Amino acid sequence: MSRPSVTPVQVDTNRLPLLLGELRVPAISRFWSEIAERSDREGWPAVRFLATLAEMEVAERVRRRHERHLAEAHLPPDKTLENFDFDHVPMLSRARVAALAAGDAWLNKGENLLLFGPPGSGKTHISAAIGRALIEAGYRVLFTRTTDLVQRLQTARQELTLEAAITKLDRYDLLMLDDFAYVRKDQAETSVLFELIGKRYERRSMLITANQPFADWNKIFPDPAMTIATVDRLVHHALILEMNVQSYRQKAATTRKNRATMKSVNQKAAAQVAEQPLATQIPLASDNLARQSSPQAQPNHHPD
Ligand code: ADP
Ligand code: MG
Repeated sequence: MSRPSVTPVQVDTNRLPLLLGELRVPAISRFWSEIAERSDREGWPAVRFLATLAEMEVAERVRRRHERHLAEAHLPPDKTLENFDFDHVPMLSRARVAALAAGDAWLNKGENLLLFGPPGSGKTHISAAIGRALIEAGYRVLFTRTTDLVQRLQTARQELTLEAAITKLDRYDLLMLDDFAYVRKDQAETSVLFELIGKRYERRSMLITANQPFADWNKIFPDPAMTIATVDRLVHHALILEMNVQSYRQKAATTRKNRATMKSVNQKAAAQVAEQPLATQIPLASDNLARQSSPQAQPNHHPD
C-alpha cells in the first residue's frame, strides 16, 4: 500500500467534521475542537493530542458496548450484588459468588451454574446480580424465563429456523434460564430445550434456577431418557448451589410486622409516661429511661 500524501499546509476545519463522520469516530467528532484548543493553548506535543482523542474514542466505544450488552441481556432491574443480603443465605459464600461474577475460568470452559431453592430464596436476584457483574467484566449474557425461551424456540422450530435460533444464542457467554422447573411438557414441546442444552454442552455456559432439584424434572421432558440425558449434560461440568432458606419476602414481612409491634409498644410506653405527673416525667424524658419505667415496653431485639 502506498503512503498517503502528507503535504497539506492549510487545514480545512470545515471539512474535518465530514472526514470524522466518514471515519465513524463519534467521540473524536464531538471533542476534537475542544481538545485542539486546549492543545494549542498548552503547547501539547502532537502525539499527546492524538493519544488523548484516541483514548476518548476507545472509552466511548467501551461505554456503548457495555450499554448495548446491558440492554440485550434483559436483566431484571435493580438486582445487584451490593443490594443482596448475604446474611440471609449463609450457605452462599460471598467469595464464591464474587469469583463467579468475575467470569473467567468457568465461562471460558463452558461450565454451568445451577441454583436451587424454594420460591423467594433469592435465586433470581443473585442470578441477575451475577449477570450484571459479568457484563461489567465484558461478557455477554441473556436472562430469560425458561418458558419464554421455550416459546421462542418453538416458534423457530415451526418456521424451520430452530438450528439458526440456537446458533444465534452462541453469542452469549452465559444463557440464564430462570425458573427451569416451571416448564411443563404438556404446555410446550420442551425437546427444544434438550436441543439447546445439547448444543451448548461443554462449549457455552448456562445458569439455571429451579425450585425443585432434579427429582421433578421428569415433568418437563417428554420421556425419562431425555430427562436423564439433560440432567447428565447440565451437571457434568457444573457448580450446584442450594439456597435452602426461608423466602426473603416473608422474612421482610415478619420484620415489618415486628417493627410495627415494637412501634405500638413504644407508643403505649409514651402514653403511660404522659399520664404520669409532670415531676416524674422530666427525668424520664429520654426514650431509654421511658422504656425502663415500663417493663412490658421492652422491645424484642431484632438483629436487623
Ligand atoms: P426466587 O427467584 O428464589 O423466587 P427472588 O430472587 O425473586 O427469589 O427474591 C424475591 C424477592 O426478595 C426479590 O425482590 C429479591 O430482590 C428479594 N431478595 C431475595 N433474597 C434476597 C437477599 N438475600 N437480599 C436482598 N433481597 C433479596
Ligand atoms: Mg425467581
